[in-house]
Amino acid sequence: MLNGKTALITGSTSGIGLATAHVLAEQGINLVLHGLLPEAEGIALAAEFAEKYNVKTLFDGANLMEPEAIETLMTKAVTHMGAVDILVNNAGLQHTEAVDTFPTNKWDMIIAINLSAAFHTIQQSLPRMKANGWGRIINIASVHGLVGSIHKAAYVAAKHGIVGLTKVVALECAEHGVTVNSICPGWVDTPLINTQIGNIAEQQDVTFEQAKYKLVTAKQPLPEMMNPRQIGEFILFLCSDSARSITGSALPMDGAWTAQ
Ligand code: NAD
Repeated sequence: MLNGKTALITGSTSGIGLATAHVLAEQGINLVLHGLLPEAEGIALAAEFAEKYNVKTLFDGANLMEPEAIETLMTKAVTHMGAVDILVNNAGLQHTEAVDTFPTNKWDMIIAINLSAAFHTIQQSLPRMKANGWGRIINIASVHGLVGSIHKAAYVAAKHGIVGLTKVVALECAEHGVTVNSICPGWVDTPLINTQIGNIAEQQDVTFEQAKYKLVTAKQPLPEMMNPRQIGEFILFLCSDSARSITGSALPMDGAWTAQ
């Protein structure tokens, strides 16, 4: 059923997005890979996927802070691949600092990349999904789309925002065969959180591995980080026909973090 469909995964040059790209390509899903990589490296990555999985691929390095670049990305995706059937809004970044001194430019960046970019990609892919009577939109939120933590004003605001956006879009396309969900992960072992781990290691004079354990167990009862591939496999399930009634949901995958 999924073989031959096309997925656009924002931020698929690293972490969760890259792992998801592997999981979807294994099923014969064509890929639009995207992320902040030099053009030549992005093209090489796309070629690697095409050869390994025998799928069609495309790379685009659009900076998601720029709506015009997102429009070019979406047009290029449809022109080269024919459609975007599966949209995974995954790209994101973090900055941790108390709200009193939180830099305005970091706030603007995080809101633009972690929230507004998803509005633009959804707006530009939804009409075709509705016309085809099938589509899957998966937004990578976070437990921070459901609860707050100190020093994460922009991130928590953006992630709560994307959970809200998910609900509205799901309601608006429920009759058109398009499902829209947010996944709300706890800690996932990716480069995104290395700075936070590094800060703990420095402040508490412990090793990187010890700091990692401290970070995970501070709030998450399950004392281990998820592997990014676990998120990719959940995304694959949400794309399946068995998941056609799951829509408008914010789905925690958080080692019981939000059970408390
Ligand atoms: P990562 O740092 O490994 O990957 C981030 C991706 O986003 C990269 O491909 C990067 O190029 C892209 N990106 C960043 N800024 C961009 C910009 N301006 N324009 C275009 N692309 C840009 O991070 P990750 O952990 O894989 O994060 C993926 C998503 O998962 C994010 O939305 C993040 O908030 C969410 N998340 C991560 C965790 C975690 O513990 N790692 C937990 C919950 C949610």
